[in-house]
Amino acid sequence: MNRISNRIGSIAPSATMAVSAKAQQMREAGHDVISFGPGEPDFPTPDHIVAAAAKACGDVGNHRYTATPGLADLREAVADATNANSGVDISPSQVLVTNGGKHAVFAACATLLDPGDEVIVPAPYWVSYPWTIELAGGVGVPVLADQTTGFQVTIDQLDRVVTERTKALIFVSPSNPTGAVYSPEMVRELADWASERGIWVIADEIYEHFVYDGAEFSSIAASMEDRWVIVNGVAKAYAMPGWRVGWMVGPPDVIKAASGFQSHSTSNVCNIAQHAALAALTGPQQSVTQFREAFDRRRRTLYKALSSIAGMDCIIPQGAFYAFPNCSGLLGRSLGGRTVSNTIELATAILEEIKVAIVPGEAFGAPGFVRFSYALSDHDLARGARRLADFLG
Ligand code: GLU
Repeated sequence: MNRISNRIGSIAPSATMAVSAKAQQMREAGHDVISFGPGEPDFPTPDHIVAAAAKACGDVGNHRYTATPGLADLREAVADATNANSGVDISPSQVLVTNGGKHAVFAACATLLDPGDEVIVPAPYWVSYPWTIELAGGVGVPVLADQTTGFQVTIDQLDRVVTERTKALIFVSPSNPTGAVYSPEMVRELADWASERGIWVIADEIYEHFVYDGAEFSSIAASMEDRWVIVNGVAKAYAMPGWRVGWMVGPPDVIKAASGFQSHSTSNVCNIAQHAALAALTGPQQSVTQFREAFDRRRRTLYKALSSIAGMDCIIPQGAFYAFPNCSGLLGRSLGGRTVSNTIELATAILEEIKVAIVPGEAFGAPGFVRFSYALSDHDLARGARRLADFLG
């Protein structure tokens, strides 16, 4: 008998987390690493949010277990924010507060999927979707949307992979890892396509506030009657990745079932962090605008820098905080005394030789590409861009 179950033993750890850990290790060993790795805003969490958490620490009620689906005030604030931003009409009872957006994806898959159910996953996809689907017993069906369509899947592509086992489609716009933003018209077409076939949509809206150049965030859930779940959280919009507060929003029966699942897996999310999230959603919102402006500036700087490197072919991202250049023009080259034949080797060479962390496209179902997160300081971005130009130029 195996010591480790087949189910868990087959998992490759998250590549974004692995890059982050490796960069940290190298920093601890004294290296000046510049990280374009994980999508983690570099800003401190705004002061009023931190103050709300500090205050919550002093309340003994927060030292105890609270209701599994979340604090009542926070569920209400999430419902209000979702109704306002996504254009849906939900009540607080349709909110499950989860341990970060990642656990909301996990809860959604665990709640909706039976063994063998297929989930269409547009690729390039966020690294954790396929594993989450598999852990829930489902089967991920990747559909590669390449650079020629701006990394956006088409209805034709979906038609080609849909079967009677298709239970759900994962949809993220603005997209991690490509920065693609689907137009409102395309979002409606996808919603209709799924609704007509009775297919669920798991909509990851964590980047809803980060759109640029006139691109518009548009929630697919708003165009569907039923069979949609939204996952979201405070990590990106409020610079709170470490606080681990996300949520899953959907039909009452789904949220009730997911809450039962959570009651056995994590119980309530840390109460202090929930109070911080409440302050984030209900307090001043200027920081969201400031973050968006900073990301937009960095996006343009990074795009310019990457576009000037021969062998990197980048389309300008319209949302989120990632650029996803095609690096096939760099493969086969000798870099720092080694020949790189794929983008895993390219990312390794770049990290080891010039101490710049990026995530290879293989992790996102798109070999030949690499992902740059531009959620790092302007100063580091400029330094990193110079190192890349010197090394690859
Ligand atoms: N969503 C971010 C990323 O893709 C955070 C890291 C992670 O959880 O994967 O880098």
